[in-house]
This record gives sequence, structure tokens and C-alpha cells, in this order.
Amino acid sequence: MLEPQLRPIVIIGAGVIGLTTAVRLVESSLYAESKHPIHILANHLPSDPLDPKYASTIAGAHHLSFADDNDLRQRKWDSRTFQVMHDEWKREGEKTGLMVLKQTEYYVGTDKHLRIYEDHPDLTTLDRSTHSSSIDHSISFTSLTMTPAIYLRRLLDRLKGRAQIHRYHLPSLSHLSHPSCTALIGSSTPLAVFVCAGIGALTLGDVEDREVYPTRGQIVSLKAPWMRSGWTRQVGSLDGGEGGERTYIIPRPDGTVIIGGTREQGDWYPYPRAATTDDILRRAHDICPEIVPPYPRDQSITEPLKDIVQGVLVGFRPSRVGGTRVELGDDLYLGNDRVKVVHNYGHGGAGWQSCWGTAEDAIAQLLRSL
Ligand SMILES: Cc1cc2nc3c(=O)[nH]c(=O)nc-3n(C[C@H](O)[C@H](O)[C@H](O)COP(=O)(O)OP(=O)(O)OC[C@H]3O[C@@H](n4cnc5c(N)ncnc54)[C@H](O)[C@@H]3O)c2cc1C
Repeated sequence: MLEPQLRPIVIIGAGVIGLTTAVRLVESSLYAESKHPIHILANHLPSDPLDPKYASTIAGAHHLSFADDNDLRQRKWDSRTFQVMHDEWKREGEKTGLMVLKQTEYYVGTDKHLRIYEDHPDLTTLDRSTHSSSIDHSISFTSLTMTPAIYLRRLLDRLKGRAQIHRYHLPSLSHLSHPSCTALIGSSTPLAVFVCAGIGALTLGDVEDREVYPTRGQIVSLKAPWMRSGWTRQVGSLDGGEGGERTYIIPRPDGTVIIGGTREQGDWYPYPRAATTDDILRRAHDICPEIVPPYPRDQSITEPLKDIVQGVLVGFRPSRVGGTRVELGDDLYLGNDRVKVVHNYGHGGAGWQSCWGTAEDAIAQLLRSL
């Protein structure tokens, strides 16, 4: 007689959200006790060429929370992620793809910073005489940046032998019972499915969340290994996360520096705009003249930067009205079998800095529901 197969658990998406969720799942008591097969289904995988719809590989990325002082849920996710990544960096250093650095924040139009920064090490309020008079308030503290390709690859390594990863476009959750899908995940109905589809949550059938929209981001990659500190200027209110004009300088351990950016809500244009690239170069130089190579600093403003441009990238942050969705959805029925649905998507411009917090929250919600 054939042994009954254990019901698999499926994760849709292989961005930083799907992969951190998978890592926490294989580390959970549920997996330790029963070894449910874990399958990840995704259109895009980390080694793919860059695609604006695969936000995790385009991102800057740095840990700079946007969490409002009263948004305790977001603050908890972001703080927890900082703690996990900072510990990883302390254990293994920059080979993790993480870089710990001094971060300077400039504010125009406000004399306040977000309270969450007070939890970071080394917080200092800078004296007004140390920066331009156009800046109303400035702080510095210790934060970190991530190199997406390296960090994602290491997440895949942590899943080796414990989760199977399939390139598969899932048109709808109900499609999990389609033979082309059961050929991959087995014929037993899944016990649970995690929806970590990023911007794909807008079109994934049985989810089709109309609150999800793209926030287009254009960034420029420079080769500037002399830069070992991060800088940001926020002009105007963040308005809960994506508001105002933000300029940033994000160094990576390999000498690449990402500068940006734009936050164009509802804009699906997937190619760089030349005028935007010029504007980013100008703004980055404006907040941090040291970005110019040491040799031509006394010359014109944007041309020396153009010499060190490696590429210009565009990506769609998976934003959502009402913020990130981490919660149980309605149960899905495949035939007579009930499947738990756990949503973990809609992270907007904060997916890297909240990934471990939201992954742990999503797993805890599944465990409580079983
Ligand atoms: C320019 C830019 C700069 C950014 N900077 C930062 C930063 O500094 N700090 C920060 O925290 N965040 C930053 N972000 C945001 C961050 O990149 C995102 O929040 C995060 O990557 C979202 O991860 P995700 O896994 O949800 O989505 P994604 O990385 O987009 O992955 C979605 C996955 O779901 C799969 N998928 C979708 N639909 C389906 C389907 N129907 N069937 C199968 N698979 C499907 C995709 O193929 C993919 O594997 C930035 C983003 C951009 C674009």
C-alpha cells in the first residue's frame, strides 16, 4: 500500500520576502516535527537578468525605516530585521552582502526625525554649523546596506535540501490543483500557501488585491570604492513611507554605490529616463560632494560622476494602500480540502528592511491557526 503523502506547504515568490519566509519556515517547529515538503513557485529567480517587476534584485538597498512613530507593527518588523542582519554581519562580516556604516540623514522642511532611529547605535544630532543652511535638521547613526544578489544567493543556500524551488507562473491560487502544478508539488493538497508575490499580488487570481500598485524607482549604480558612509536627504513629509523627495547614497562592500532616487506612484514605465538620471546625479552630488572621484573634485559637477556610472536601473516597489499585508486570508478550498492562506506582500519601499520581521510574523500566524 502507498504511504499517504505529507501535505506540502507552498510559497509563491522568490524575492527577499518569499525566501526569508521559506527560511523561517524550515527553521520552525512545524517543519522540525513533521517535515512537510516545502515548495517555492516563482516567475523570477535570483540569478535572472534584472526585471523591474522583481523588486528585490533592483533595490538599493539600505536599512532606513519609514515607520511612523505610532505604527508599532512596522517599527517592530523593521527593528527586528535590523537586529537579525546586524547579528549576521557581526558573525560573518561583509561576505553576507551586508555593510555596516555611518548613516547621515538630512531633513528639509522639518526639524524632527523618526523615533525609530533612536534605537540605532550611535545616534547623534548634528550641529547646524556642520551642514548647509538649507538643511533644517540632521542626525547620524549606525545602519546597514545590503547587496541583493549576494544576500539572496545566501538565502537560497540556507534552503538547500529543505525546500524545492520551481520556476512556475501560478495564474491563481486555485491553480495549485492543476496537473502542471501537482507535477511539481505532488498530488496531496497543500496544507498552506504563503502569498509573497510582491507586485504580482495585483494580478494573482484568488488574491487580485486592487490596493497594490507600483511605486517606480530609478537608481544609478556608480563605481566609487572610496565611499564607506551613507547619506540621505528627505525633502518634505514622508507621508507614511513614500512621500516627499528623497535622495540617497548607498555604498556596498564591493565598491559599488547606488544613488537615487525617485518614487513615482502608479508609474509603470520600465525604462530609465535620461532627465531623471541627470537629476539623480545632481542631487547626489549636492548632498555629498565626496561622491565625485578624488582626482577631479575641483572640476564641473555632474561630468566627473558620469565617468563612474555603471548602469541605470528601474524597479517597481510593490506598494499597497493601507501598508504591508501580513495576515491570514480566507481559507482556500481545493475540492473538499481546506488550505490555509497566509499573505505576506505589499512591502513598498521597505521590503529589505522589514523582511525578517514580516517573515516571522507570517509564520507565527500560520502556526497559531493550525
Ligand atoms: C529602486 C528601488 C529601491 C529600493 N530600495 C529599498 C531599500 O533601500 N530598502 C528596502 O527595505 N527596500 C527597498 N526597496 C523595496 C524592496 O525592493 C521591496 O519591498 C522588496 O524587494 C519586495 O520583495 P518581494 O519579495 O515582496 O517582491 P519581489 O522581489 O518583486 O518578488 C516577487 C516574487 O513573486 C513572484 N511572483 C509574482 N507573481 C507570481 C505568480 N503569479 N506566480 C509565480 N510567481 C510570482 C515573482 O516572480 C518574484 O519571484 C526598493 C525597491 C526599488 C525598486
